[in-house]
Amino acid sequence: MWYHISEMIRATTETETPTDVVRWLQSEAADLWPALVGSLSFRRTRCGHENCQTCLSGELHPSHVLYGQHNGRRFAVYVPEDLVPQVRRAVENGRALQELLVQAGPRYVKALKRVRVSTSKRKKS
Ligand SMILES: [Zn+2]
Repeated sequence: MWYHISEMIRATTETETPTDVVRWLQSEAADLWPALVGSLSFRRTRCGHENCQTCLSGELHPSHVLYGQHNGRRFAVYVPEDLVPQVRRAVENGRALQELLVQAGPRYVKALKRVRVSTSKRKKS
């Protein structure tokens, strides 16, 4: 599906205006919420109870943690198992959103240049 969209984009990018790019960005980003940046890690930890059979067996307790960085400071947030699917989706959305913003760069700059050229030549396209 992503490839399909990219092919469609390629066909229209030659004539689009900055407004078109903004509209494209908004419509693509509309489906990408909630979005967050971080990494969801799986680990097995000890619970701290002395006679815990799960810990004694060496199996330990599975848990998920969301890691990230903000202003150079790392953070780690425990994610309960039942919330893992939602958090995972938000992380995937965050990646897709970043990807989208990277794609937006050249398209927006090209569109701005195109508008500038056509205004300076006093032509309408
Ligand atoms: Zn335990």
